[in-house]
Amino acid sequence: MYADRLRETLPRVRASIEEACVRAGRAPGAVTLVAVTKSHPFEAIEAALEAGLTDFGENRVAELEEKVARFGRPDGVRWHMIGSIQSRKASRLPGVADLVHSVERLKVARKLADAVVGSKLPVLAQVNTSGEDAKGGFEGARVVEEILEVAGLDGLRLDGLMTMAPFVDDEAVLRGTFRRLRETLESVRHHAPHVGETLSMGMTNDLGIAIEEGSTMVRVGTALFGARPGYEAA
Ligand SMILES: *Cc1c(COP(=O)(O)O)cnc(C)c1O
Repeated sequence: MYADRLRETLPRVRASIEEACVRAGRAPGAVTLVAVTKSHPFEAIEAALEAGLTDFGENRVAELEEKVARFGRPDGVRWHMIGSIQSRKASRLPGVADLVHSVERLKVARKLADAVVGSKLPVLAQVNTSGEDAKGGFEGARVVEEILEVAGLDGLRLDGLMTMAPFVDDEAVLRGTFRRLRETLESVRHHAPHVGETLSMGMTNDLGIAIEEGSTMVRVGTALFGARPGYEAA
């Protein structure tokens, strides 16, 4: 079932990414597609690997652990943690995540950094660009200073920033949200040039606009795999 679905959906998603790159005058390879497999069974990942996908996003630590236990961490496959992290679970992530997108606050950043043994853990700082209470992430007047503190932690390698846009259709609002993330990264890199240039922004409903505004990584679930079975975690 997942294999059949991906035969239809993956070319469509890839085409939307490429078309947005062309509109923005960017190279088609400039955007990484992270397939968001959260709450989908192993079969979804099997089909996705078969279809040539390499990057998988999960939003719960336990589910990420189960999937990494099943599929391992072979070369060329990357596991992305994209969901809110309870600080008591942070120490489990360095063993299973190749990139943690959802470092939402300093406390979690410090817990992650403390848990790292060996090479630095690649992370993104999540920014609440929409100001919605329900969304996590650094926000407010000190956002750049706080992200610079993350950048300074031993144990972490800050690759860039991540955001979730508000659930609206208003293109101007979405564009503004994504632009704010790009400008925040410019400010951070102005003070800390060693910070990476990854902008993780864009999901099923807004990936074209996100790419036009400079996204380098889109996180796509529904457009690839259909509606998620069972619960819908925030
Ligand atoms: C679920 C989720 C996605 C994927 O959302 P879709 O609308 O299904 O593409 C992307 N990013 C985060 C952080 C998510 O939790």
